[in-house]
Parts: sequence; structure tokens; C-alpha cells
Amino acid sequence: MALASSEDSAGRLLVVDDEAVPRLIVARAAATLGIASDGAASLAEAVARVQAVAYDVVVLDLGLRDHDGIELLRSLRQAGSDAVLVFVSGFDERVRQAAARLAAALGLRVAGTLGKPLLVERLVALLRALPERTRARNAEDGAEIDPALLEAGIEGDEIVCLFQPKVTLRERRLVGVEVLTRWRSPVLGLVRPDLFIPLAERAGLIDRLTQHVMTQALALFRPWHAERPELTLAINLSPVSLTDLSLPERICNALAESGVPAAALVLEVTEGAVMGDHVAAADILTRLRIRGIKLSIDDFGTGHSSLLSLLHLPFSELKIDQRFVATCLHDPEAPKIIRAIVSLARELGLQLVAEGIETEPVAELLTRLGCPVGQGYLFAPPLSHAVLAGRLRAAAWAEGVA
Ligand code: C2E
Ligand code: CA
Ligand code: CA
Repeated sequence: MALASSEDSAGRLLVVDDEAVPRLIVARAAATLGIASDGAASLAEAVARVQAVAYDVVVLDLGLRDHDGIELLRSLRQAGSDAVLVFVSGFDERVRQAAARLAAALGLRVAGTLGKPLLVERLVALLRALPERTRARNAEDGAEIDPALLEAGIEGDEIVCLFQPKVTLRERRLVGVEVLTRWRSPVLGLVRPDLFIPLAERAGLIDRLTQHVMTQALALFRPWHAERPELTLAINLSPVSLTDLSLPERICNALAESGVPAAALVLEVTEGAVMGDHVAAADILTRLRIRGIKLSIDDFGTGHSSLLSLLHLPFSELKIDQRFVATCLHDPEAPKIIRAIVSLARELGLQLVAEGIETEPVAELLTRLGCPVGQGYLFAPPLSHAVLAGRLRAAAWAEGVA
């Protein structure tokens, strides 16, 4: 059912419902706002559609005949979808809220939930907010930025490395730094990584960017490491790079040229990334680990890795996602999740780092829950090389004071 053409429409919507009437109501409501829509009557049909089309919004009935609609969330996540979700169901509000929380935990955005029978006005109100969301998302994605500008920026040394300290939560001793990049563009000003990294991935520039970041960061890190051999350097790896089988060789060459030992390097990959092309990712990660490089699972708790896949991949560190950290004082579920992650890390012999620690009470709670290392604005924001070098000289962290 396509009620508006997707060319110059205000977005594209998928409605998943096994009943024809609600599908029609949603499609009509969308059409009044100029939103093109497709319908799917089953989970299989919906999965096929989200794999083929980048939807802006998915209206999902949680009570499909043979399945719960929740399974589609995983497919959306796997397809890298950025769709905004609207849940519809005849169940009570608590069920819809639980589904919304699950979606958020999977990194999906939820616009709202609707009961059945559908209230058309409420649906239209939700959909009306969509063009703004779509526009905002495109700007966020850096869709407006010309890839040639980024390419010139990479070649012209405009990508700079900042370093955010990782400290022990009890003594506040510096144990390592994570490289967080910024693009200092003479045209655009300072560009955040969540804008230009996805652009680099889409434009096929990510490998050159990673190479550049790695060379720069290793060279800056080398003198610190010479003085404090216990320090580690963490670099973020794009999931896109985990399909490139020449990656381990290139990283080892960069290490050899820098003189930094493999054991001082930590590569952070997001949990979801590893689940994509499983075989290639496992191949690359295993080869990196064999060379002595440490591997960290970033944003842990937001993906949907099974314990088995965790056990099968040679990770050495696990980073609790900011979302659990930020909410741990207010959401009664968050400390339980953190406690479970702490014991999982212990059982598997993984280092554990909590990221996004902004306040002292959060640091205290995490310490009590058994998390040894943390990162966040409480200790330091991402710092320039010069500022961090100054602090290291002043031995601020050597004394155990951040
Ligand atoms: P990430 O790896 O999860 O990095 C943590 C993000 O949280 C960073 O955002 C950091 O500046 C921010 N942050 C640190 N402490 C706090 C805190 O206490 N509170 C809050 N609210 N935020 C905090 P940033 O620097 O904007 O980087 C965003 C993402 O971009 C990173 O997320 C990482 O996935 C990606 N990224 C950054 N540099 C690179 C890179 O060189 N290569 C690749 N592939 N990705 C990168
Ligand atoms: Ca990271
Ligand atoms: Ca993270």
C-alpha cells in the first residue's frame, strides 16, 4: 500500500499490523501529512521491508498474530535503522511502556505509544512532529556536509585527537586515555565525531581517517607511555572497519612505527558492531588479540549480544554504557544491571570501565557496585594533548588525585 510516492514526501513510514483496518487508518493519517507509507501484515514481511528501505518512522502493533512485534526491534537494529518508532497495542499502558524502554535500550528512538482502537488525532499529532525529526536527523548525520571537504580535512591534518582519562574509582589514579576525535574545519568550525564519523563511513573514508587518528595518537602517546608504562591508549574502531581483513596488519605496522607496544593499545568496538558480519569480525578481532592488542566492548548493554558470542570473542575489557551510568541513581533497574555486568566481567576476567560519570554520588555508587575504573566529566572531559601533558607533568594523577 503506497499512498504517497516517496519522492519529495515528508518522510517514509512503515505500518506493521496484521489487521487491515488499522493499517489503512495509519496510512491515511500519514498521507494527510504527505508521508509515504508501506504496510506489512506479518513479521516476515516487516523484516524484509526494513532491510530494504530506510524508514523514517515505523508504526508497530505489538500483538501480531504469530509473533510479538518486539522481534522487529532487533531487525531494525541489525539493519542499522534510524527510524522513529510508534507502538500500538491493545495491551495496557505498562506493556507499551516496557516495549518503549526495550527499544530505547536497543538504541532505537520512540516517538510515542498508542492504544487500540487507534485515535487518529493522536496519531496525526505524533506524525506531525516527524518532518522536524527527519530534518534534525539529516543535519545530525552530517548529510549536508560534502564528503570532499572531509577528505581534504583528513589529508590536511584537520582531524585532531583529544584524550579523555580513565581513572581508578577508589584512588583516582590515571590508568589510560581514550582518543576522541574532533574535526577542526576552517569552513565548518569544530565538528563533533557523531557528525563526521558516519559521513566518513558512508563516503568510504573511514579507513583513512582511522589510520590518521592512529598514527597521530600513537605518536603523541609514546612519550607518556615511556614515562608511565602502565598507561593504555584506547582508540575507537568503526564497525565498518571490522569487515576489512587487512586491518590487523595495518594496525600492527602503525604500532611498529610508533614504538608503542601492542599491550598498551586498546581498541574499542561497540557491542552491536560485533554482531554484524560475525565471521569477519571474529577473524579480525582474534588476529588483533593474538598480536597482544587489547579489545574493549564499547556501549555494553545497548546491543543484544548473547553471552555465548561474548565468550567466543577475545575481548579484554567491557565498558558499561553511559545510559546505565547516568540513570543509576534514579532508575531502580540500572544498579541491578550494573551489578550483573560487574559479576559477568569478573567471571569472564574482563576489565570493567564505567563511562559518562558526571557526579561524585554516581562515582560512589559505581564503586560500591564493584566497578573499578571510570571515565567522565567528573574526572576530566576529553583534553587536548597539551593540557593532558601539563597535568601529567604536574603529576596530578600520579598522586591519585584527578
Ligand atoms: P564513545 O566512544 O562512546 O565516547 C564517549 C562519548 O561520551 C564521547 O563523546 C565523550 O566526549 C562523551 N563523554 C565523556 N564523558 C562524559 C560524561 O561524563 N558525560 C557525558 N554526557 N558524555 C561524556 P564524543 O567525543 O562526542 O564522541 C562520540 C562518539 O564518536 C564516541 O562515542 C565514538 O563512538 C565516536 N568516535 C570518537 N572518535 C572516534 C574515532 O576516532 N573513530 C571512531 N570510529 N569513532 C570515534
Ligand atoms: Ca569509546
Ligand atoms: Ca561508549
